[in-house]
Amino acid sequence: MNTTKIGWIGLGNMGIPMTTQLIEAGYEVKVYNRSKAKEGALTEAGALLAETPKELTLQTDVVFVMVSDDAAIEAVFKGSDGILSAETTGKTIVNMSTVSPAISKQMATDCGAKGHIYLDAPVSGSVKQAETGQLVIMVGGDESAFNAVKPILERLGKLAMHVGETGAGNSAKLAINSLLALYAQGLAETVLFANTQGIKTEDLLNLINNAAIGNIFTKIKGDAIIADQYQAAFALKHIVKDLNLAKEEGISSPLAKTALQTFEAAAVKYGEEDIIAVIKEIKAD
Ligand code: NAP
Repeated sequence: MNTTKIGWIGLGNMGIPMTTQLIEAGYEVKVYNRSKAKEGALTEAGALLAETPKELTLQTDVVFVMVSDDAAIEAVFKGSDGILSAETTGKTIVNMSTVSPAISKQMATDCGAKGHIYLDAPVSGSVKQAETGQLVIMVGGDESAFNAVKPILERLGKLAMHVGETGAGNSAKLAINSLLALYAQGLAETVLFANTQGIKTEDLLNLINNAAIGNIFTKIKGDAIIADQYQAAFALKHIVKDLNLAKEEGISSPLAKTALQTFEAAAVKYGEEDIIAVIKEIKAD
């Protein structure tokens, strides 16, 4: 049994498998989610429940946060029952959500004022990698605090790397997700072009996945295209959020601009579906 008491806020597509990994690793894990329906599966797996982020912060040592966006971070940290309302000190708060470097800097300052340490630690990889502890984790903030939680991060990921000061993890993640958007749009456009030339989707993907340009992404998303199955592993609306955050941080390259335009249009109909549902938007054009 690992003695560090872990708190986990946010049981979405990623939070559920990540929490499950920590329970399986022998940690005591207390969870909180805004909507209650998702907590059931985890209590069956052995998680304890907290009524509020405040209660969870009081009762645990390291608090992980895995929620949607900056607005969710505001709510979870600064809401009336939020993390920062807990009358306690000396906790480590690890924010694994993909959010702006700016909100991380703000939360790090607010956490510091309460005597807590804040790390931004977003992840690359999706549900499959979360289920198998194979995420890639990039961390900004105090390096000794990073080293202290590294054993926990290593249960969640195959690589946990310190990349700089507060917000640096978020910056690295936005760079990676800019590439992710280009991969998704590129794969979709390539399949559709091949189809216009009479090449079957299955055949094209078989070729790609055996070629040097094939990778885990083309395999998993290729399978989704073949199955015509777009249930969200990574919701398309989240890549719109990330491309907008990257734009706010100054990205203005031609492909980044095009991707933002494409995914914003796709999100009108397919925002709750997986990122690769972008193929339906491009096909309809
Ligand atoms: P998700 O399935 O959409 O879940 C979002 C979570 O955030 C839910 O627990 C939701 O609570 C919570 N939330 C949203 N707004 C909130 C608010 N105002 N107050 C409190 N809680 C709130 O998202 P996900 O796919 O797990 O992704 C989580 C984060 O990881 C995002 O930043 C995403 O960009 C990033 N990410 C995702 C993937 C992926 O493949 N899915 C990969 C890498 C990184 P409710 O259940 O109550 O709605």
